[in-house]
Amino acid sequence: VRVPILCYHRVEVPPASATRDTNFVTPACFAEHLAALSAWGFTGITVSDLLAWQRGERALPARSIAITFDDAYASVVSNALPLLAQRGWRCTIFAVTAHLGGTNAWDPGAPRATLLDAAALRDARSHGHDVGAHSRHHRRLRGLAAADCHEQLVEARAELEQALGAPCESVAFPYGSHDRVTLAQVEQAGYRGACTLKRWANGRRTNPLRLGRMSVGGPLPAWMLMGKLAKMFATPAFR
Ligand SMILES: [Zn+2]
Repeated sequence: VRVPILCYHRVEVPPASATRDTNFVTPACFAEHLAALSAWGFTGITVSDLLAWQRGERALPARSIAITFDDAYASVVSNALPLLAQRGWRCTIFAVTAHLGGTNAWDPGAPRATLLDAAALRDARSHGHDVGAHSRHHRRLRGLAAADCHEQLVEARAELEQALGAPCESVAFPYGSHDRVTLAQVEQAGYRGACTLKRWANGRRTNPLRLGRMSVGGPLPAWMLMGKLAKMFATPAFR
């Protein structure tokens, strides 16, 4: 059994000012993706579910897929969660912990967007969704000085746990950026799982601190998504 993870960002129609649309899927497109995944027999689970399955603590539906949202945009709650709820699916939201309730200020080239605040993240959790960290300031972690990496991982986890009043199990690397030092720090920081942007589906013995995940964005017809997904299943997961 292998479990793919998908990475979405903003679920909304890109504004005219957007020069690139890879961070966007329209709500209609997202609905099509869910319909296609459902037709293929998939059930949406959280990254925490996947980690618990790897540890042998729980079973998963026969075909499971973890849908994740990086940066925690407000449009995830307004546009994506209702569509997931229609199917009873759950997801994982990765929040940039120094920017809760703020904007995507780290990305000056992108149109401004509001980010979910602590209350909205707690509300998502109360509906069964999972919330993980996406660093403190959305910095590239590869090659970062140890003290800075510590802040981006350890302090982000503490900050998020404070905001949620609950444990934070997982982290998603901004831009997928990581190296061996990052992985050691992730382990030290007490995370149980970490998501990369390596395109493989995860098996029971895949390193939980180096989970494969595929970024999904731009106008991507459902049939094309399914083709990319098939490739993830065909790619061996490297430890
Ligand atoms: Zn991000």
